[in-house]
Amino acid sequence: MRFVHHGQCHCGSITVELRTGRAPQAQVLGACQCSFCRKHNARAFSDPGSQVALRAIDPSHVHPYRFGLGTVDVILCRNCGVYVGMLLTDGDEVLSVVNIDTLDERAQFTATPAARDYSAESTDERIARRKAKWTPTTLLNWPLRAAQHRDIMPNTPKPDGGPHG
Ligand SMILES: [Zn+2]
Repeated sequence: MRFVHHGQCHCGSITVELRTGRAPQAQVLGACQCSFCRKHNARAFSDPGSQVALRAIDPSHVHPYRFGLGTVDVILCRNCGVYVGMLLTDGDEVLSVVNIDTLDERAQFTATPAARDYSAESTDERIARRKAKWTPTTLLNWPLRAAQHRDIMPNTPKPDGGPHG
């Protein structure tokens, strides 16, 4: 891959590495319209032709949050609160969308994020779309079972369109 970008949450407990064949200016960004992404005004990146590695420098700080249909883990840093990305885990297969603003070179990603509303999709449609469009991802030093942990928040907000595409 021609371009390698590094990033991390604010405190450095979770690092992000993106390997991609396209220059940052040529990358497509999304603005998911779910309530979580709007509260962060997050710029989302995914590309099935790129590769992401997420490394937990401090695994105890990986906080997987679920809401809506609960089909993905929203990865937050428990220490500094930064939203890192979303993970779909299916057996050994891990796919992600990352928060492009975690990258050191975030300013080079200049595309206007395209508004994306996935609220009408069924669970199966969501999973199929993610498998087609999200980025193949390697998890390094990741806490065991974090990807499957569903009971972080006893009072999960009611479904409102579901998490990010
Ligand atoms: Zn952090």
